[in-house]
Amino acid sequence: MKISAIRVYQVDLPLVEGRYSWSEGKYVEVFDSTVVELLTDAGVSGYGEVCPLGPFYLPAFGSGARAGIAELSATLIGEDPTAIGPMNQLMDRALLGHPYVKSAIDMACWDLLGKVCGKPVCDLLGGRFGESVALYRAISQRPAGEMAENVAGHRADGYTKFQLKVGGDPADDIERIHAAADVLTDGEVLVADANTGWRVDDALRVVNAVRDRDVYIEQPCRSYEHCLTVRRKTALPFILDENITGIEALMRGHNDGAMDVINLKISKVGGLTKARQIRDLCVTLNLPMTIEDSWGADIITAAIAHLAHSTPESLRFSATDFNSYVTVRNATGAPQRVDGRMPVSYTHLRAHETERTISYAVFCLKRGGGGGGGGGGGGGG
Ligand code: MG
Repeated sequence: MKISAIRVYQVDLPLVEGRYSWSEGKYVEVFDSTVVELLTDAGVSGYGEVCPLGPFYLPAFGSGARAGIAELSATLIGEDPTAIGPMNQLMDRALLGHPYVKSAIDMACWDLLGKVCGKPVCDLLGGRFGESVALYRAISQRPAGEMAENVAGHRADGYTKFQLKVGGDPADDIERIHAAADVLTDGEVLVADANTGWRVDDALRVVNAVRDRDVYIEQPCRSYEHCLTVRRKTALPFILDENITGIEALMRGHNDGAMDVINLKISKVGGLTKARQIRDLCVTLNLPMTIEDSWGADIITAAIAHLAHSTPESLRFSATDFNSYVTVRNATGAPQRVDGRMPVSYTHLRAHETERTISYAVFCLKRGGGGGGGGGGGGGG
């Protein structure tokens, strides 16, 4: 099987709740998602998606994803997309860094491999553990009382794990954590995720003020060193997210005792292939994981479901059903939340152009062909 062409779509993803707000006053109202379709000479297509959390969360942005895929297309066309290892090596040699660009392509390769083998991707990633995955719900940053009400509202959808978006004014964040902790019921899990938004002194004020609450602290500060300083001064369980960018960061954190849980985002580390490496290492280290991505719709939600389902249940801290946060569907066959849990998707994905698919480009360059052919964009949808 060879890749015959690569199509790239831009898809707007408005939010059900209208706005998603997190640390330092950042917010997004419409996410800029990119869908990649790998067309093959066998007549079957594979689909991947990448959706940064705006351009100011990680070093990633929507038009950057599309430009990066264009940059890689001449290298990849004519190659076997089911040869996952060589495909990743080709991408890493052709383009240094830019893991989020490669994530969508790698995801599409796994989709193709599943279709060719006639197996769900979770089976190819190691085999299925259980029938569904417990999800967390992100609670957008609002005044404390509203966030506590939103915890109760999402409980009605079956969620038992809640991630408060903090990382604002420390006094307000202390109030937010107490208000949410006050409404928790037995068996529920609370995480306060600062998304790098606190200075060390801010973080220490917060962890000291909530030290008697049952709450996890996630990624308080921007740098690893500052997070480690906070970690060493609190007894609260600790999660690292933005600093866990790959195997080396994971090993450093593990050796320093810097975290009790990691947040594994597929596009942050470069795709399912590299996320699986990290997942497998975490299994060996007995380190629990939240398995998710930065954002997305149906395609990313399906990829999360497959990676999460091939992870031992005892090490699945939580996962995310992003397709329930947005108003646009970009594929059929994706898993849907049932009572706060996500079943694995047994059917293979079939991406579709929605009315909101506003532009696309088709790349059909031959390797070494040089120039031309990048054809293009036009009104999709
Ligand atoms: Mg996080």
